[in-house]
Amino acid sequence: MTVAANLEKTRATIREAAVRSGRAPDAVRLVLVSKTVSPERIREAIRHGQTDLGENKVQEGRKKAEALADLPLRWSMIGHLQTNKVKDVLRFADEVQSLDRLSLAEALDKRLQHLGRGLDVLVQVNSSGEASKYGLAPQDVSGFLKDVAACDAIRPKGFMTLATFTPDEAEVRRCFRLLRDVRDRARQDAPQGAALADLSMGMSGDYPWAIEEGATIVRVGQAVFGPRPLPDSHYWPS
Ligand SMILES: *Cc1c(COP(=O)(O)O)cnc(C)c1O
Repeated sequence: MTVAANLEKTRATIREAAVRSGRAPDAVRLVLVSKTVSPERIREAIRHGQTDLGENKVQEGRKKAEALADLPLRWSMIGHLQTNKVKDVLRFADEVQSLDRLSLAEALDKRLQHLGRGLDVLVQVNSSGEASKYGLAPQDVSGFLKDVAACDAIRPKGFMTLATFTPDEAEVRRCFRLLRDVRDRARQDAPQGAALADLSMGMSGDYPWAIEEGATIVRVGQAVFGPRPLPDSHYWPS
């Protein structure tokens, strides 16, 4: 199938799942994950109306944003971010979904103050409990949000997670529900309160479940672009 056909199918699946979860068909935002995909193939998705793109590596995202600078796009950083990459990520990213520690929030804030602008962020939560995953432990989120409130240029909009990588539906849904509980608690207690609406959860293998559990943003790559030949590689064919 072509990128355009896969994109249409994914959008239809998203709309149906949103309606199943009692929401409007357009209630869920699709961030199309373009990591390892060439700018030429990304253009095919853009021609079919996609403007919201996600990358997990700073240098790759920057290069693609430059290659596609003629188009009005919105780039999300969804991967682990080293503090020494803050300057580079802010050259292309409109949003950072992987805010996972105070030192990163402070480094972003400092650079944003210098640039005179703000940044939408999502707080990444480790919902699976796996040691290999980035993100705050659920019990640390409340204290983190209080600390981050001092960073004026950082605008927390909600939360992001990766579920356990398993075909076990119950375990995957447990992760999504945990993130929703974190969000619901934070909306009551955190200084940022009602602004914390977003739940970014669900990838190619599990996004319909994520939407049923309340996702407002899904991050989907392979369902549209096909399997990645080299998982998490910096390389893409030019
Ligand atoms: C790669 C990636 C995705 C998308 O995964 P697919 O299997 O391509 O849908 C979503 N979120 C993050 C953080 C990723 O790194």
